[in-house]
Amino acid sequence: MSNLQPVRGTHDLMFDDIRRHRLVEDTAFAIAGRYGYGEIATPVFEATEVFTRTLGDTTDIVTKEMYTFETKGGERITLRPEGTAGVARAFISEGLAQQVPLKFFYREAMFRYERPQKGRQRQFHQIGVELIGVPGPQADVEVIALGHHILTALGVAGNIKVELNSLGDGESRAAYRDALIGFLGSHLQTLSPESRDRLERNPLRILDSKDPADRALVANAPRYTDYLNTASRDFFQAVQEGLTRLGVPFVINPGLVRGLDYYSHTAFEFTTDALGAQGTVLAGGRYDGLIPSMGGPAAPGVGWAAGVERLAMLIPEPPPAVRPVAVIPVGDAEAPVAEKLAHDLRKQGFAVDLGYSGNMGKRLKRADKVKARAAVILGADEVRDGVATLRDLDSGEQRKVPFAEIAPALKS
Ligand code: ATP
Ligand code: MG
Repeated sequence: MSNLQPVRGTHDLMFDDIRRHRLVEDTAFAIAGRYGYGEIATPVFEATEVFTRTLGDTTDIVTKEMYTFETKGGERITLRPEGTAGVARAFISEGLAQQVPLKFFYREAMFRYERPQKGRQRQFHQIGVELIGVPGPQADVEVIALGHHILTALGVAGNIKVELNSLGDGESRAAYRDALIGFLGSHLQTLSPESRDRLERNPLRILDSKDPADRALVANAPRYTDYLNTASRDFFQAVQEGLTRLGVPFVINPGLVRGLDYYSHTAFEFTTDALGAQGTVLAGGRYDGLIPSMGGPAAPGVGWAAGVERLAMLIPEPPPAVRPVAVIPVGDAEAPVAEKLAHDLRKQGFAVDLGYSGNMGKRLKRADKVKARAAVILGADEVRDGVATLRDLDSGEQRKVPFAEIAPALKS
């Protein structure tokens, strides 16, 4: 084998890195559980159509980023680039319409073919939630509050801004779309070629164009909030009041939009300045039209997804590994007794590191390397007398303890 590097945009996770990851996922899972979200794991790949139909054929994901291939059986399948489409597909194919409201949590690897950089990989991980079957604003409030709760529990909420906007209902969207096309259409020469291309097909996406000229133009474009009808304004108001009641701070960002037709009402992003260009850690919104657009029942939904790598980078300190007890035979003759003692302690729930070989100094060095909290040292005399030397590796204090009292002594 000549190429032993990981594939570009992928990473091996171990040591501190994977502990950061698991802390993010486990904290999110535990807190989502308090809100009644149960875990769902959908397949890593789906029929390509699941994503093309739901994400729309003008999004970056569909046009540039999908890992799609044909199987030996001639099926076109895609590695999932995001979680919502698979959950919506499962909702339909598992026939869950009678069970709403349903609350799902997921933690999964995602795949997108994009240019790797800090906070942007080709295989990355997301945690996410979907709340299906609740049409009212209390659902939007709940999922946003849940996201904020998770970031608070991770100790990173202080660095985060919750940005909120409303896309309103279908009527509001149509009105805004017309206004936007009217405005941008009268500045065609200023628009980037890519945006000119999008003007009729998907004008809302021009609002998050990265082109400087587009951005300058967009700054003066009509504002979505001015085109919301009464029902949509009331909905947005209720979301804001709910968040205020729960003490979730937020700012309105009128430029925050979702280009796809099945999105409605609430759109939100949690952003930070601490990660450079990749500043969005969590993004979500209401997708009332998604499940119907896939041919499913008229079930509304709202949810979000957050990047585990980005959240992991924000955690100030990686969680420490469990500190084991080091069981150390002084010589090879004591090794069998040490192995038996280690096994017994493990069965009683202790994490035990067993020095495999080498002299005393080498074994103590290993105990230090694995950050053992205590050492149980077994010399020839001790084994004969049925005692061990128990050393506290933080204080250095030590005493002889009969075998039967090792476990109780380690507990205290
Ligand atoms: P971006 O604008 O950064 O490309 P996005 O709009 O494509 O983000 P979403 O599809 O909304 O992102 O995904 C939700 C979250 O997943 C993002 O906010 C981010 O934290 C994370 N994420 C998305 N793409 C990647 C990636 N390639 N590598 C790492 N994390 C990612
Ligand atoms: Mg992206």
